[in-house]
Amino acid sequence: MSTNIQWADLTDNIIRTKDGGWWCQKISPGCANCYSEKLNQNSFFGGNKLPYSGQPPELILDTEAIRKWGFQKKPKRHFVASMTDVFGEWVPRHWQREMLDGMFVATKQTFQILTKRPEIMLSSIDEWLDGHGIDILPNNIWVGTSIENRQTLEQRSPILAQIPAHVRFWSAEPLLEDLGDISQFLQDIHWIICGGESGANSRPCHLEWLQSIVQQCQSFQKSVFVKQVGANAYFQQQPFRTRNRKGGDISEFPMQIQVREFPNLTCD
Ligand code: SF4
Repeated sequence: MSTNIQWADLTDNIIRTKDGGWWCQKISPGCANCYSEKLNQNSFFGGNKLPYSGQPPELILDTEAIRKWGFQKKPKRHFVASMTDVFGEWVPRHWQREMLDGMFVATKQTFQILTKRPEIMLSSIDEWLDGHGIDILPNNIWVGTSIENRQTLEQRSPILAQIPAHVRFWSAEPLLEDLGDISQFLQDIHWIICGGESGANSRPCHLEWLQSIVQQCQSFQKSVFVKQVGANAYFQQQPFRTRNRKGGDISEFPMQIQVREFPNLTCD
């Protein structure tokens, strides 16, 4: 399905609930205003109205969508399972293997997998690599973790760093505080997406926090993609209003953060 997420061409929601809609389990402050849960509350968008908490409902893996990846000729970036966490504790390991198998043969496509549970991603991918007798993910499989604050940075990034991949990335969105000095983590990361929160009840994002990430990425020659300033942005201690309701129009950003780069695949 095409998407207006600026860093992807398509979203492929290969895990859905048996009766339609999606499901996930909130895990950290970045999940508080989960856009997927909000969409899932709306039957007009195909949602089932389940909250993203409690026990998982019956789920299905869309094996047909996975099979089709191998026949797609035009190269696209696929944000896989944007409505859930494909490395959630409730997702069967063999589903993760089937997903990776489908990506492995779809060499013309690029897959972006994002998790808030990098420890499960690490062990599942290690098992998959062992099963295939290879040491590193092919360069069309990019692996990322969400970093919303300093605590998740310190917890998740070192685990992500252990995954053998040509592209390891952070999604620092919604960015909820200044990450401070990220230099010690950057050596293991190839790409950072960052942005403020949008939607109802969005929490503040100070553009200086984004600026700091951009400056440090530039110093360490890492690719950085500023997706949006969000709907509750501040700059120089003043509210920063944009015409775009998500603050996603790059032409409205301060010059210093008008950056949208993709990873440099020659970096490893
Ligand atoms: S992990 Fe992602 S999809 Fe799942 S509840 Fe959190 S924000 Fe929503």
